[in-house]
Amino acid sequence: MEAVIVVDMLAEFVRGKLATGRECVVIEPLTALLSAARKAKRPIIYVGDAHLPCDPELRVWGEHAMKGSDGSRVITELTPQSGDYVLEKRTYSAFFETGLDSLLRSLGVETAILTGLHTHLCIRHSAADAFFRGYRIVVPIDCVTAFTEAEQGSGLEDLHRNYGAELVTSPDLARRLG
Ligand code: ZN
Repeated sequence: MEAVIVVDMLAEFVRGKLATGRECVVIEPLTALLSAARKAKRPIIYVGDAHLPCDPELRVWGEHAMKGSDGSRVITELTPQSGDYVLEKRTYSAFFETGLDSLLRSLGVETAILTGLHTHLCIRHSAADAFFRGYRIVVPIDCVTAFTEAEQGSGLEDLHRNYGAELVTSPDLARRLG
């Protein structure tokens, strides 16, 4: 069983302080993939930043997506629907102290479909943690993006080479789920 994990598709990253303009391109393909996944009864799990003032990441990036702030909300186009799961994270990995691993295990998930932001950073750290825990990883390349084209390229290569992520396109993946 596959689950779609949606990382950091939050107002702060798509239209806020840390937006670069490159983030919007994933909204349309991701919307279509999520709708296919819901139809195919695959779990959808949103994991997004909800930072506390003491989080080490703020030393690197400054304040962003603070817990309870507008910036920490999933963008309206991708608003979670009933039956979806929503978890909060406080650092790059979607697995680090979020309960994601136990949720996936209780749902019988073996394959993590990683989507969202950013390919070389939070997707990469989430892939590493998924890999360490024995999950297979699939990344629809049109549903992930990074701050720059170079980071997108190096991120995808890293995901494939080091964590064995299968790189696919979202229409192909949607067909497979159906
Ligand atoms: Zn953060």
